[in-house]
Amino acid sequence: MTQPAVPRIQLNDGFSIPQLGFGVFKVDPNETERIVSDALEVGYRHIDTARIYGNEAGVGRAVADSGLPREELFITTKLWNDDQGTQSAFDAFDASLDRLGLDYVDLYLIHWPAPANDRYVETWRAFEQIRESGRVRSIGVSNFLAPHLERLIDETGTVPAVDQIELHPQHQQPETAAFAEAHDIAIQAWGPLGQGKYPLLELPEVTDAASTHDVTPAQVVIRWHLQRGHILFPKSNRRERMAENFDVFGFELTSAEVDAITALEREVRVSSHPDEMN
Ligand code: NAD
Repeated sequence: MTQPAVPRIQLNDGFSIPQLGFGVFKVDPNETERIVSDALEVGYRHIDTARIYGNEAGVGRAVADSGLPREELFITTKLWNDDQGTQSAFDAFDASLDRLGLDYVDLYLIHWPAPANDRYVETWRAFEQIRESGRVRSIGVSNFLAPHLERLIDETGTVPAVDQIELHPQHQQPETAAFAEAHDIAIQAWGPLGQGKYPLLELPEVTDAASTHDVTPAQVVIRWHLQRGHILFPKSNRRERMAENFDVFGFELTSAEVDAITALEREVRVSSHPDEMN
């Protein structure tokens, strides 16, 4: 099968990332190898996992079994809140790399700022050292709001390559996105389909565009993210949906359709507020 060319987003550190990938939050560790192997066969080359998902080993086995050249893949993992600190971050990174069975990861993220613990700046300095060791190419953060980003940059001078935040049409975090854009931090949209928890895929702004382009509502929402410049990695355990979510390069939303979906903002979040997740 000929693979569509997935656009790449240039990061502020010179590396680039495939704009569309595959996420494995809530993918059962026992099924991860099969599910990620399916995703790689469908054509995904960018996989987003985390220590807390408990499925890094399955991702690593699927990568190894695929026989794909390492440089064709982009693998992200994340440091969990309990592991923030200096030595604890070094140890957590070594353990993640070991479970993944890789020599390096493409992107390592602080999963949440966990501000009550006040260790994210210290953790970020540890991330700088891990990057210097050559075992991670890019370092970034997740669920950081503008004040957290500002403090990291002020105290360390190192600008994260990405901020991975909850972002879907009904929760777009415009302040965080504007801060990121002003500092050349790429936005990764997690929960891009609203985790299927809200009737996002049934809203007329989405279903009308789907009818017009003869595609599915999920494809419309993925296309909206791509056209807004977000990096995203929708998740599905089902191979037919993986293929559907990847088949989004044969049509384009008009600017009026993009604007109508952008106007769906309702500040509806599916997860905890970043200041309260410690
Ligand atoms: P998502 O928005 O990708 O939603 C996934 C759900 O949407 C599926 O379980 C399914 O119910 C539904 N779905 C998928 N494809 C569909 C289709 N074609 N048609 C209809 N329904 C469909 O939510 P997510 O998994 O939470 O987010 C994607 C990835 O983001 C995760 O897998 C993970 O890698 C990452 N993530 C990161 C954080 C963080 O704190 N950094 C938090 C959550 C998720």
